[in-house]
This record gives sequence, C-alpha cells and structure tokens, in this order.
Amino acid sequence: MNRLVLGIFLACLIIVMMFFSYNKNPSSQGNFAQKRESMVQDQIIRRGITDPRVLAALRRVERHEFVPAEARDIAYADHPLSIGYEQTISQPYIVAYMTQAAQLGGEEKVLEIGTGSGYQAAVLAEIVKEVYTVEIVEPLAQSARERVKQLGYKNIFVKHGDGYRGWKEHAPFDVIIVTAAPDEVPEELVRQLKVGGRMVIPLGSVYQELYVIRKTDTGMEKQSLLPVRFVPMVGEGKE
Ligand code: SAH
Repeated sequence: MNRLVLGIFLACLIIVMMFFSYNKNPSSQGNFAQKRESMVQDQIIRRGITDPRVLAALRRVERHEFVPAEARDIAYADHPLSIGYEQTISQPYIVAYMTQAAQLGGEEKVLEIGTGSGYQAAVLAEIVKEVYTVEIVEPLAQSARERVKQLGYKNIFVKHGDGYRGWKEHAPFDVIIVTAAPDEVPEELVRQLKVGGRMVIPLGSVYQELYVIRKTDTGMEKQSLLPVRFVPMVGEGKE
C-alpha cells in the first residue's frame, strides 16, 4: 500500500516538474510551433501567398534552427536577421514569395545561389526533388551543410563556390533561385537553366527589383515582380 502511495506521489511529482520546465522555457518546441503558425497566417497568407505547397513548407521548416542561438526567439519575426559574415537570412515573406514565383510542381531539380543559413534551401527541399545550393562564404557553406544534414534533409547538396559559375555538373536545372543581387542576369546561370525553366532573381544595386525569367527556345522572357533589398552578389562574375 505504502509503495502504491509512493508511486503515485512520484508520478505526480514528475508531471508537475515537466509542466513547470515546459512553461519556464520560452524556447520550447510548442512555443516555436505557435510562432510559426502565426508567421504563416499574419505574414504569408494575409499578404496573398496561396500556393498550398509553399504554405505547407513554411509550416514545416523550423526557422529557429537556422538563426544564431541568441536570435531564436525572434526567428519568426517579419524581417531578415543577421547570420554573421555581414549576411542575412531573408524575411519569411520574401522566401515564400520567391518560392511561389518559381511555380514548383514537385519533381524539379533546383539550383539556389546564396545558401546563407540554408533556410530557403530547406523550404525548397520540402517541395522539390533535389536542391543544389552554392555559397561563396566558406564557413556559411560549412555550417549550412551541417545544419541541413542534422535536420535530416537528404535532398540538399551544398557547395562552397562562386554562384556566378552555377553548378555545371548537375545542370541543367528546372528552376534557379538567386538570393543575392547581381547587377545583371549571370549568363552562365541562363546556360544552366532548362528551356521552359524559371529563374527568380533580384537585380540591381541601390535600387533592386525581383524578376522571374523564363527561358525560351529563342531567349528569355523577363517579368518584374516587386522591389526588394538583398545583399549584393559578390564574386568573380562581378567586375
Ligand atoms: N538564402 C539565404 C539567404 C541569402 S543571403 C537563406 O535562406 O538564409 C545571400 C547569400 O548569398 C549570402 O550568404 C552571401 O554570402 C551569398 N553570396 C553572395 N554572393 C555570392 C556568390 N557570388 N555566390 C554564392 N553565394 C553568394
């Protein structure tokens, strides 16, 4: 009898301790899930993103895993965040917007230029078959590679290199997403895009605009989407 009472007492104690440790920790998974859902509702759906695949991907990817430890609590805020080396993880809305603009069906092989934290790559990887991503800052490429591996993504491939050169060995790509801004469309990237493929790319320096470019048999169709602000695309392609 005494044992039974002791057992019940201990079980209650454990439940109470779990309850308090959960509530004391503002960074608990439950809290992040809630913030992620609010982000999708207030920043993404409210601004007109409708592609169900994009919304599902934003609901799944744990953005707090892609920001520095001290920024985890503001990972779902409505702005870009610093990830070191003077680089940023893009605002959630811009990630959603660019992903929707790529018009993904699910079977694509995608090239991303500017891996940064790996967040955009993870969002893409939730939707498409394979994501190849190139980052010019070696420590960022390295940490993004480790991060996506740890999070279990088997269809993201990270390369340290200059994005102006693309990733020839895996070309041609169905879609190319560039997340740093060059002044002009890099020719080599157009070469590595399939005919009928789409490139989503910010262009410009002081004033930048986001474009979607469709490669045709005869050239390119270029459509301007919205004004944006990305870090400049550096590297050898730039004079
Ligand atoms: N997509 C990232 C954010 C991009 S920030 C994310 O989801 O977190 C832009 C990134 O482009 C930076 O990490 C910067 O180092 C990188 N970059 C700039 N010029 C580049 C180039 N020529 N080739 C590859 N990466 C480049």
